[in-house]
Amino acid sequence: MKCALVTGGSRGIGRAICYKMAAMGYYVLVNYKGNIDEADNTLAEIKANGGDGELLQFNVADKNDIQQKLGSWIETNTEKYIEVLINNAGVKDDGLMMWMTDQQWDGVLNTSLNGFFYVTRLVLNSMLVKKYGRIVNVVSLSGLKGLPGQVNYSAAKAGVIGATKALAQEVGRRGITVNAVAPGFIATDMTAGLDEKELKAMVPLKRFGTPEEVAHAVGFLASPEAAYITAEVLSINGGLYS
Ligand code: NAP
Repeated sequence: MKCALVTGGSRGIGRAICYKMAAMGYYVLVNYKGNIDEADNTLAEIKANGGDGELLQFNVADKNDIQQKLGSWIETNTEKYIEVLINNAGVKDDGLMMWMTDQQWDGVLNTSLNGFFYVTRLVLNSMLVKKYGRIVNVVSLSGLKGLPGQVNYSAAKAGVIGATKALAQEVGRRGITVNAVAPGFIATDMTAGLDEKELKAMVPLKRFGTPEEVAHAVGFLASPEAAYITAEVLSINGGLYS
């Protein structure tokens, strides 16, 4: 059975990606950190629309937790194979560098950058054996451009962009593509506290994007037909920056 693992699938962009993966026929592994009610809602919606999947809770910022839970899922479910990996889980914890605490730095880096490394390394083995795989990393405009107040977040996302390009070159000969999408302002819990009226004026399309618009691009990069696209970073930002 072919599976798609979506980290941070309980809410926002990750949830929309879970729906897209289910619509593409994948058995969806909905990862989340702590919000089981929202994760349950994601899975229920997948099933209500004729899809299938299961919840797979682990903290992407904790390598032992990943090894224990994702590692044992892989060992136990030998008839299932993760063909698509979407590294979506991410957090922001903004502040000027001058005042940034160790916790703010570590929390954001551990989630996006270390999370990418430890989850992908575990999943990669079976993709290499099967000689097929699709990895899509959800990065950010912040990782391309750098944004003040987000030295931690910009560094984490820029790190994942570099890793995307490097890994793509390592595994291309095995039929595995590795790409990233870089959203601008997308309407989710993460951006709920922002002044949308002021910020959308800066966007050529004059609005925030939707999680579904990001999921559509992810679905394209995760499709078999996108076989000749790798090491690419696709901006989804309404023309804000390119
Ligand atoms: P969101 O609404 O805040 O949802 C975050 C998701 O990530 C939740 O499902 C959460 O799980 C999960 N998560 C957070 N930390 C985790 C951890 N340590 N382990 C496992 N899961 C974890 O965020 P979003 O806006 O959808 O963002 C999704 C991705 O897009 C992030 O990587 C973010 O950086 C990126 N992005 C977002 C925007 C934007 O404008 N929204 C722009 C550019 C990039 P729980 O529900 O269990 O907490």
